[in-house]
Amino acid sequence: MVANESQKPLCPVCQQADQVMTLATAYESGISRFAPPPMPVGRVPMIKSMVIGIGIVSVGSFFIIVLLGSVGLPEVVRAIQVVITLIGIIVALVLSFLAFQRAVQGDLNSQQLLPAWDRALENWSRLRYCKRDNIVFDPQQASPKALSDDELSSLLAVEAEHKEAAQISSPMGAHQ
Ligand SMILES: [Zn+2]
Repeated sequence: MVANESQKPLCPVCQQADQVMTLATAYESGISRFAPPPMPVGRVPMIKSMVIGIGIVSVGSFFIIVLLGSVGLPEVVRAIQVVITLIGIIVALVLSFLAFQRAVQGDLNSQQLLPAWDRALENWSRLRYCKRDNIVFDPQQASPKALSDDELSSLLAVEAEHKEAAQISSPMGAHQ
């Protein structure tokens, strides 16, 4: 029925389809503001600090074994070294525990963003760009019109939903 029309939507400004392209094509042709919405990812540095923590624990354990086995050192020096190494191990364990907690939290945060990312990606692949008029429009709207920059960026934004509440409570505080 209207399969052809939906493949080649008409630009609402010039009423032609010859310069209409997807945002993906427009992005590939060098218009960087039409980049696909970035996928939300967890904080990788947290995992890095966990690895460092595990490394410190291994080195510490190695030194304890070596020190306990070594002879010739005064008893006090050995005791102090063992204590210092133990403190290092405890600090490393605490740090990697905290890092692990933060990594889990970061993962949860990016998981919460996944539906928003899904929506943004859907909008991104649905919207069309007319090169002649340099406008973006939504061909699925009943009467398509050129989208403003604000409308476009909100359609493509990957943000948590409760951000809208922050916008409402900004300058209009002294209302009543
Ligand atoms: Zn046009």
